Amino acid sequence: MDFYGHIIDGVEVPSLDGSTMEDVNPYTREPWATIACGGKADADRAVAAARKAFDEGPWPRMGFLARQVILHRLADLMDEHAHELALADTRDMGKPITQALHDVARSAWNVRFFADHARLAMGDAYPMDSGHHAYSRFDPAGVAVAISPWNFPLMLGTWKVAPALAWGNTVVMKPAEDTPVSATIWARLALEAGVPPGVLNIVHGYGPDSAGAALTANPDVDRITFTGESGTGKAISASAARNLIPVSLELGGKGANIVFDDADLDNAVYWAVQAIFRNAGQICLSGSRLYLQSGIYDEFLARFQAAAEALMAGDPQDPDTEFALALASEEHFTKVSGYLDTVAEDGGRILTGGVGEGWSVRPTIVVDAPPTARVCREEIFGPVCVVQRFDTEDGAVTAANATRYGLNAMVFTENLNIAHRVSAKLRAGTVWVNCFFIRDLRAPFGGVGDSGVGREGGNFSREFFTEPKAVIMQIDQG
Ligand code: NAD
Repeated sequence: MDFYGHIIDGVEVPSLDGSTMEDVNPYTREPWATIACGGKADADRAVAAARKAFDEGPWPRMGFLARQVILHRLADLMDEHAHELALADTRDMGKPITQALHDVARSAWNVRFFADHARLAMGDAYPMDSGHHAYSRFDPAGVAVAISPWNFPLMLGTWKVAPALAWGNTVVMKPAEDTPVSATIWARLALEAGVPPGVLNIVHGYGPDSAGAALTANPDVDRITFTGESGTGKAISASAARNLIPVSLELGGKGANIVFDDADLDNAVYWAVQAIFRNAGQICLSGSRLYLQSGIYDEFLARFQAAAEALMAGDPQDPDTEFALALASEEHFTKVSGYLDTVAEDGGRILTGGVGEGWSVRPTIVVDAPPTARVCREEIFGPVCVVQRFDTEDGAVTAANATRYGLNAMVFTENLNIAHRVSAKLRAGTVWVNCFFIRDLRAPFGGVGDSGVGREGGNFSREFFTEPKAVIMQIDQG
């Protein structure tokens, strides 16, 4: 079985105490790789390497152009190794290979975008009436820790690490324990591209009482960026607060997808399917609550059900597979399938779907569930869509906002006034109108309430990964 180590100070190494973990392919339910399993000593060693590379190494000092060139080389290598990277994520979490390849392309684009953005960004100047002159600088913050989840293993890592690197920081990344391999491959490519040793370190391991917790408790860290569950976000926030380390938290969601009577139904059905069944619903942004206006309820539901049942389900490594017959792990399968057991208890009905082969849950649609039902309130993070009916615009907004989460929402309407009004009233970090999952990396990304703290993307990432500084100069007026 292949072995994947930590990458610390430019070298791939085992854990100091020799600990390893098995990496299980959830489709075959067999281990396919052995991974170094880090603890506090490994985490501390990685932070020390990143600290030294930041305090003494060339990366923060080489300037934007030199970093841009190296990061572009890294993105090119990612494209060249796209199949290897995609296959790692597919084996690690059961993501269909075509979707994994799409994620790799997006990951390479993240690297290019943030390299270019940092190079082209401008600061502000403030000519003062007093004759003084003030301007801002954006200096790298230092050592950034990036902790990522398993649902977009490579892509979410790059989304954090690329801006951190582009702005001159050094990084310790801890990928999720279920999906470690693409991070090690990526860090190998970074070294090949010319990223100096110690600038991008990878530590594998678990969260609590393991590498993850050790990274968030280390006082030599300057920034922590985390994507994962809301409960974990609270634990990380508490740990970081002890050392006053700024955190950026991208957390869970329970996205509302609102379809009005006047929507283009072909388009709305297409995106509704993508929004909840892509990546088997293991997307923080998924449209897990589907609100249909009364006039289209029956027709939409019939078409949505037909489209869900027509998805090509199968082996994640088959390029024709649209819906993988595997959730990310046995633990996650147990969680998602457990929610199916609550549907009838809480007063709802499964229209289609249910538990499939192995660790899979088929595309599942739940109807007639009251808003108090667990499937309506809690993040399932699987291919389970709860459909509800609404009559008025206000009713839809009230229902959509009745959640502690606020990551994103979707609105389908051909009426511009409805689109703007409802977008303004929804309590969410992102609202998609007549689409889903489209990103502009300059735009803010993040969540409201239990969905997160802070925003990343473009200048928002710059402000997190730098120490903005004001310089005020007195000018001799002559
Ligand atoms: P998780 O919180 O269980 O784990 C995420 C990462 O945190 C893993 O690397 C894990 O090892 C680490 N971790 C766990 N406990 C820790 C601790 N105490 N200290 C430090 N690190 C710790 O989340 P998950 O199950 O991997 O991912 C699914 C969750 O991620 C869902 O809630 C989903 O909505 C969320 N998510 C959010 C976004 C977003 O952009 N808002 C994107 C993707 C996923």
